Amino acid sequence: SGNSTTKEARCMSSVIPGWFSEISPMWPGEAHSLKVEKILFQEKSDYQNVMVFQSSTYGKVLVLDGVIQLTERDECAYQEMITHLPLCSIPNPKKVLVIGGGDGGVLREVSRHSSVEQIDICEIDKMVIDVSKQFFPDIAVGYDDPRVTLHIGDGVAFLKAVPEGTYDAVIVDSSDPIGPAQELFEKPFFKSVARALRPGGVVCTQAESIWLHMHIIEDIVANCRQIFKGSVNYAWTTVPTYPSGVIGFMLCSTEGPLVNFKHPVNPIDADGTLSKTKRPLKFYNSEIHTAAFCLPSFAKKIIEAK
Ligand code: SAM
Repeated sequence: SGNSTTKEARCMSSVIPGWFSEISPMWPGEAHSLKVEKILFQEKSDYQNVMVFQSSTYGKVLVLDGVIQLTERDECAYQEMITHLPLCSIPNPKKVLVIGGGDGGVLREVSRHSSVEQIDICEIDKMVIDVSKQFFPDIAVGYDDPRVTLHIGDGVAFLKAVPEGTYDAVIVDSSDPIGPAQELFEKPFFKSVARALRPGGVVCTQAESIWLHMHIIEDIVANCRQIFKGSVNYAWTTVPTYPSGVIGFMLCSTEGPLVNFKHPVNPIDADGTLSKTKRPLKFYNSEIHTAAFCLPSFAKKIIEAK
């Protein structure tokens, strides 16, 4: 069936002598490669193939079903942007939910916000959490924050059970829409996120690449416009080890106090003095926050079409 073909194609990403190449039907005809020093972990969980390898120039690398999820060298760009774009756009975020994000990087970034009182995370695959704690301690440090409550399960089911208006912010740090994350890109899930947010609450989701996935992005934007009656925006940033070197985010708010995502209202302490990890921000700042919403014309035409 299509699924098994996809699955085989997904696992085509193999370690050829000395190199890992990221081959996937989601980016036909191209494959980013990293030189492999050593494979550190490789097992199949109930949901996906989980691999960690030591690369020669990007530090350790986490791979799920043959797709690079993060590297030590450039994870800062993704974790900081997917977290601070929403949380710096609303005053005093208190209750935050992370869907996916099993590596703990988004938790590490959320914990920088002193106004936050409750951080829930729902990750489907315990193996990702265990592997991140073992091989990526500077990322999994996010789990040490006492405000964090971990739920192991499917984000789709979790959101269905969340009482209406619970969260100020939801961050969907999911893998790609092939495999366990498929439903996290579909309308029913977005509806359950909107219901779980308070009026004027915000959601930020991993939203693929404008170079590779305009068709997926077009559908996501159309769904979000129907569901989120506050504002709907697309932002993007550079992550060298993601396909085409960029990754995007959907930033939406529910009806209620207007959220102007392009102008952050809730500055974050960039040098990390307030945060437990004392880790300065490596990537995010308020200028790059505003710039992230500037789109190339080919994307603007589709995303901002009225
Ligand atoms: N930054 C990465 C990217 O942009 O592709 C994503 C990082 S994080 C590792 C993705 C996480 O989403 C994985 O740990 C995966 O297990 C989790 N995930 C996938 N589907 C899920 C679901 N339905 N519910 C909860 N977590 C899910």
